[in-house]
Amino acid sequence: MSAGGQPVVQGKVFLVGAGPGEAELLTLKGARLLSQADAVVFDHLVSPAVLDFARAGAERVYVGKEPGHHELPQNEINQLLIERARAGQCVVRLKGGDPFVFGRGGEEIIELAMAGVPFEVVPGVTAACGAAAYAGIPLTHRGVARACTLVTGHLTDGHCDLDWVALARPGQTIVVYMGVAAIGIICEQLVAHGLAPQTPAAAVRNATLASQGTVCGTVGDLPGLLARADIKPPAVVIIGEVVRLRQALDWFGH
Ligand code: SAH
Repeated sequence: MSAGGQPVVQGKVFLVGAGPGEAELLTLKGARLLSQADAVVFDHLVSPAVLDFARAGAERVYVGKEPGHHELPQNEINQLLIERARAGQCVVRLKGGDPFVFGRGGEEIIELAMAGVPFEVVPGVTAACGAAAYAGIPLTHRGVARACTLVTGHLTDGHCDLDWVALARPGQTIVVYMGVAAIGIICEQLVAHGLAPQTPAAAVRNATLASQGTVCGTVGDLPGLLARADIKPPAVVIIGEVVRLRQALDWFGH
């Protein structure tokens, strides 16, 4: 078996970012590895169109990870990767977006490293970048935002434990992943820590896909707008003055 044109004496795991949705956003390296892999182990956020790059005879293993519903527990996913590689397979572990941005990619390859299984990591376009590009919202912009922070809005026991003082400072962009359920708490905390309620904010759902939808508002009114529009995951929320640029830069779907 060969991967990367090199003969592979033992199996190997390639942790590959599938990008945010649109299949053409997959890297050339990711597409090549998919076309060579014996097995493709993929998550719920991976687009079916990306899986089409896999070799016809490749085994496709769905390991789920929808919010609150894990098809396979993480330790079993780790075990599966280790076993396949030890059996000499070329395995592509395909994850939505980028494997190292809220993707638990690090956890999986720590296990591989401990088991002595060779691996490589191939980056992908993370949801923040996909959403920003396709919604016409630059994440940084001279004179508007000189920093961008990616945070998770995932709730643990109903709490969202973020550094509100740092996030409420002006001149930066915040992108919230997994933040639909917590958007009320997030906006409330940002305002309580000094961010102006008029600060523009947008939620981008199904970014880069034909079904992409964007809801624009402010930190003050976005939670209400999202509830009314019944926005469901996957969505990222972009907060900051850069959201205003969308008025001039929105191109997708036009
Ligand atoms: N590793 C992924 C993130 C996984 S966490 C990445 O780099 O993008 C899952 C969260 O990513 C979702 O809850 C959502 O906030 C975001 N996400 C993933 N795909 C998305 C898409 N197409 N549109 C909007 N948000 C997306």
